[in-house]
Amino acid sequence: MADIIDEANQEYDQHLTAAIANRAKPLPPSPICLNGNCGEKSVGNTSYCCKECREDHEKELRAKRQRKAA
Ligand SMILES: [Zn+2]
Repeated sequence: MADIIDEANQEYDQHLTAAIANRAKPLPPSPICLNGNCGEKSVGNTSYCCKECREDHEKELRAKRQRKAA
């Protein structure tokens, strides 16, 4: 009986590992502020040093996307 349980557990582990590997991983936050030439360290779990930098950079990204689309 124990063997069957071990096998089942092993199979379960393999499925779980494959499922995790297949899931698209989100990009880890950048340790350095992404806004222009800011160069400051990012705070917490973000890619920016401050709210203003995040807003600036997001505006820039939006503008770039619009330029590409045009
Ligand atoms: Zn910054």
